[in-house]
Parts: sequence; C-alpha cells; structure tokens
Amino acid sequence: MLLTANDKVGNLIEGLESGADDYLTKPFHPQELRARLRVGLRMLDLETNLVEARENLRFKASHDALTSIWNRGAIIELLERELSRARREGSSVGILLADIDHFKTINGTRGHLVGDEVLRAVTGRLKGEVRSYDAVGRYGGEEFLILLPGCDNPKLTAKAGQLVKLVGRSSIETSAGPVPATISIGGIASGDSPHAELKSLLRAADTALYRAKVSGRNRSEMARLSDLEIATSTAGAAALARETVESPTSDK
Ligand code: GH3
Ligand code: MG
Ligand code: MG
Repeated sequence: MLLTANDKVGNLIEGLESGADDYLTKPFHPQELRARLRVGLRMLDLETNLVEARENLRFKASHDALTSIWNRGAIIELLERELSRARREGSSVGILLADIDHFKTINGTRGHLVGDEVLRAVTGRLKGEVRSYDAVGRYGGEEFLILLPGCDNPKLTAKAGQLVKLVGRSSIETSAGPVPATISIGGIASGDSPHAELKSLLRAADTALYRAKVSGRNRSEMARLSDLEIATSTAGAAALARETVESPTSDK
C-alpha cells in the first residue's frame, strides 16, 4: 500500500508497477486506510483458498481415495522415472507386488466396510516399514506396488520377507473385532536385468507373486530369469501385435 503526497498519475503508475497493490494520498483518512487493508486481506484469503484448492486437486489426481497412497497411474509413472534413473546411474530399483491373501473371504465374512478397514491398516503397516524415499501405491483392488530405489536382489529379498512377516504378525483391529490378514509378495530387482522394460518387469513380478500364492500364501518369491524371459517375449509379442493393428498400412 503506497502512502504518498504525490498525486501525479505517472508516479502512481510507477509505484503500482513496482509491486504496490493500492495507494492512498496524503492527507489520508485512517478509516479509509483500514477499509483498503481489509480489501487487501480479502485478496490474500482468496489467493490462499485458490492455492489450497489446486493442491487438493493435484493430490486427488495422484492418490487413492481410500488409502491416501499413490494411485495406479502415479505409482507407474514413478516407476518409469526410477527405472530411467537407475539405468543412467547403473543402480537397481526394487519392485514388489503385494496382494492380500483370501481378501474375498474377509469381505465375505466381515463385510466390505471391514474389508476397507483391513486395506487401510495393511497400507499403514507397509508404509511404516519402508524408507521415506520408497513409494507405496495401490496397484489394484487389494494389490500394492512398492518401489525401493537403490535396492538390489539380496536387499529386496530380505525386505519382502520382512513385509510379509510384519503384516501377518498380529491381527488387525477393526470395528468388527480383530481380523487376521496376511499378504503374498512377488518381487524383482531391475538391476538384474537393466534393459528390461517396465511392463516385462511387472509381469515377471506378477508371475513370482502367483508362485507365492500357489506355494501357500503368506510368503514372498523373487522372479527368476525364466519369468523375465517369458514376460519379455509376451510383452514383445503384444507390442508387435499393437504396432501391426495401429499402423496396418505401414508396409505398403
Ligand atoms: P488371493 O489370496 O488369491 O489373492 O485371494 P483373494 O480372495 O484375495 O482374491 P482376489 O485377489 O481375486 O480378490 C480381490 C478382492 O478384493 C475382490 C474384490 O471384491 C476385493 N476388493 C477390491 N477392491 C476393494 C476395496 O476397495 N474394498 C474392499 N473391501 N474390497 C475390495
Ligand atoms: Mg488377494
Ligand atoms: Mg488380487
């Protein structure tokens, strides 16, 4: 707010363009000054509200409403970024796919709302067990994608085991009483195959997860080289099929 004895238009314009939001000329009336300051406050409030609304929208676009962790789109985008960084730096990203065991039974016997409580509690346990620069996202209904930058195969194997143990260690307290819940995990360290594409890595982790399920659940499995080879050839074949469909006239 400029307070000036000078009412020449040129000087006022110069003052306003230098950053002042309003001006008063001397002699001024204190009530007018107060009224103009109130206008300034209203403008600041408006700006704060707009910034908050924009931040809320940004959060909602990238986070899951039930669990408040990264949503599927955001966690895949993060994985893409971490894989590029790992390739550049010659490091490894640990990728874990975790799925709650027999979740349909939990929903079926305790109800969907209790199922939601279990989902939130499992999320909390997973988040509590990873480092601040790791990322946990909701990959599907009761499936989580966990990214651990700088994590090679031995570290990832240990981490996956820890997470399985931690989630299953004690029942989850819900509004319907304690509910036991366990998870199974499939994992792959990108450093073991630095040139593999994101889709192939996820497919191989999913194969490992399937193996953890069929071999008894409440356990973790790391992807084998053969899982990745199969995943790469299926992903390659799918990409080729897509290209053929998308550009059917490319060979004319
Ligand atoms: P498995 O051990 O083989 O994983 O068995 P499962 O029963 O967990 O099987 P599946 O992964 O196919 O089941 C997923 C279930 O998760 C089915 C779906 O109704 C439920 N689900 C998905 N999203 C939500 C959700 O947001 N809340 C609740 N309560 N349930 C959900
Ligand atoms: Mg499940
Ligand atoms: Mg599932």
